[in-house]
Amino acid sequence: MKNVLFRMFLAMGLLLGAVAPGLADPIQALVNQVSETYYTNYLQNGLYTHQGNNRNDGKPDHDSAKTFIYNTLSGFGLSTGYDNGTYGGAAYSNVVATLPGQVYPQQIYIVGAHYDSVDCPGADDNASGVAAVLEAARILSQYQFERTILFIAFDREEDGLIGSYGYAGAHAGDNIRGMLSLDMIAFNHVSPTYQNKAWITRANTGSPDGTQNALANALSTYSTITPITGVMGYSDHVPFAGFGQGSALLIEYAMSAYANPYYHQLTDYTVNSLGQAQTWTYQGNPYLYIDYAYATQMTRGVVGYLATVAGLLGPPIVIPEPTSVWLLVAGGGLVMVIALLRRRSSRSEKASR
Ligand SMILES: [Zn+2]
Repeated sequence: MKNVLFRMFLAMGLLLGAVAPGLADPIQALVNQVSETYYTNYLQNGLYTHQGNNRNDGKPDHDSAKTFIYNTLSGFGLSTGYDNGTYGGAAYSNVVATLPGQVYPQQIYIVGAHYDSVDCPGADDNASGVAAVLEAARILSQYQFERTILFIAFDREEDGLIGSYGYAGAHAGDNIRGMLSLDMIAFNHVSPTYQNKAWITRANTGSPDGTQNALANALSTYSTITPITGVMGYSDHVPFAGFGQGSALLIEYAMSAYANPYYHQLTDYTVNSLGQAQTWTYQGNPYLYIDYAYATQMTRGVVGYLATVAGLLGPPIVIPEPTSVWLLVAGGGLVMVIALLRRRSSRSEKASR
C-alpha cells in the first residue's frame, strides 16, 4: 500500500514538475489569483455603490462602508484598526490594516484609496479604488514578505485630503518607501485613444522617485493596461510626497473631454434599484459604465508592484507533514507538492485564528 501511494505521489510530482516552468515567476502565480469576481463583489455589493447610496462624510452609508472595509480586512487575518484624528480642525476616520514584514518590518509600502464620496454613490470615485485595496489585501495576506505592507482606506479625500494629510503627518518619520493612491480606476473610455490605459502620476510637489516607474513596470508585466506616466495632484498621494516619501497615483486615463461623464454625479453608481447595471452613451451607442475587467487588470498591476517591492518570501512556513517528507526525498519536481501541502496547512491555520 505504501509503495502504491509512493508511486502515485511520484507520478503527481513528475506531472507538477512538468508544468513548473509555467510558474517560474512566483509573483506571476500570485498575481493570477486576482479575481474579477471578488473585485466585482466588493465594488457592487460591499461598498454602498447602488443608485441612491451616499458615502459623503456624515451620511449613514459612509459609516456602513467603513465598517465593511474594517470587517473585510480584519477577516483576512490582518491586524486592523481605525485611525481617528483631526486635520485642520476636521475629523477623519481611516481604516488601516497591517501585513508585517518578516525581515525589514520598518520598511513600509502603502496601498490606499479614499472611501468617501461627494454626496453620491461614488462607484468609480472611489469605491473602485477601495475594492482594489481589498482584493490586493485578500491575495497578499496569504503570503509573507520581507517588508511591511499597509492597506489603508482614507477618509474625507473629497474635503481636502483630510484623512491622508492626518495619516501622513502622524507618520512623517516612518520609513515609507512607496505609497500608491488608487483613485478612479473603473471607467474605461471606449475611444481607442483612451481605452485600456492608465495614468501613473506623481504629485506636483516634490521630485520624481522610483515609485512611478516601478508601478508602470508592474502594469506592463502583469496586466493588459498601457501605463502613461505624468504629474497630477488632487489625491491622497500628495501629503506623502510632501514628506519626501515615494508615492504615485493610479487613475483611469480618460480626462478632460473624455473624462468620466458621471464624475461627482448622482449617476456614479453600479446598479439601479432594479439591479440593472449603469450605462453611458458615446457617439450614440450605450456601454456599461463600470468596466470590472479593466479595474481587475489595474488591480493585477498593483498586486504585482507590491509583491515585487515588498519582497515576496512565500506562503507562511509550517512543518511539513510526514507524507511530504517522503516526497521531498523523491526528487526536485516534487517540491511543488510540498508547496501545496504547506499552503493548505497555512490556510487551515489562518481559518482557526
Ligand atoms: Zn476621488
